[in-house]
Amino acid sequence: SSEKKAGEDCGFYDEGSAERLKWEEEMNEMFEDSLSGHDFQVFLQPKVSPKSGETKGAEALVRWHHPQKGVIYPSDFIPLFERNGNICRLDVYVFEKVCALLEKWEDMGKKLIPISVNLSRQHFSQPEFLEELSVIAGRYGVRTDMLEFELTESIFLEENQIDIVKESIRQMHKLGFRCSLDDFGSGFSSLGLLKEFDVDALKLDRIFFQDMHSEKARDVIACLMELAKKLDVKTVAEGIEEQEQVEYLRMADCDMIQGYIYSRPVPADVFEERFLR
Ligand code: C2E
Ligand code: MG
Ligand code: MG
Ligand code: MG
Repeated sequence: SSEKKAGEDCGFYDEGSAERLKWEEEMNEMFEDSLSGHDFQVFLQPKVSPKSGETKGAEALVRWHHPQKGVIYPSDFIPLFERNGNICRLDVYVFEKVCALLEKWEDMGKKLIPISVNLSRQHFSQPEFLEELSVIAGRYGVRTDMLEFELTESIFLEENQIDIVKESIRQMHKLGFRCSLDDFGSGFSSLGLLKEFDVDALKLDRIFFQDMHSEKARDVIACLMELAKKLDVKTVAEGIEEQEQVEYLRMADCDMIQGYIYSRPVPADVFEERFLR
């Protein structure tokens, strides 16, 4: 259950170096075998209410177990798999693992919590992918409202994506899925898009919480919480590591906190033991 910090061991080789290119080729070649050999593992990180301390949900985060290199983190293979389309199959794999987990929890009589999966923007070029996912959920007998999709802000980098994403969100809701906007505020500002997209939750990037001693920083957070409330969107604060951040977020009425302060992402069995009742 011990996890390195995200990005800590990002890259075994220098970007663009000959070794790196060779390693990328190797990773691409390994993909199929790793997928069928179950070398990709789904870790879970809790989303906790700062008011009640209850675990309200979880995010699924993928790890890759390499026979020689050990654990490989998403930052090291996701950009690569986004370039060659493997990411879509990996996301569906993660989604299916999550469905299987929810089915298992239900059979164990556990209180179900929604689990979110990250969706690469590559999916949005094939509009039928949501139907496929709802068929998978049906196969496991999982209620779609226990499943949430996280769309990262960078999904909107291309202007013409906006209508496609809007339509996909409508489709997600029609099928009963939940949907959240990930890494909100990390780069490209989507404040203007908030009124366009009917998302259920806003995941506020950890950049907002890095300097909570500054009054300005606290004011920005308080305003974002107000804004979300007005829009009837739940708030999730990402990357929270310190108790005083939790105190402020509780005061500011933030709905959920996801961060090392509560737990690093952990394997599913560890998650069940620690966070499921
Ligand atoms: P994300 O979706 O924003 O996920 C949150 C990341 O922040 C995770 O990194 C998590 O381990 C890390 N994190 C959580 N709490 C803290 C904290 O308190 N401090 C710090 N410093 N970091 C924290 P991870 O697991 O390395 O994933 C990185 C990114 O890779 C994710 O960012 C997501 O965009 C992508 N990713 C992960 N799994 C998948 C997947 O199955 N499919 C796709 N398409 N993308 C994925
Ligand atoms: Mg995410
Ligand atoms: Mg069942
Ligand atoms: Mg995020």
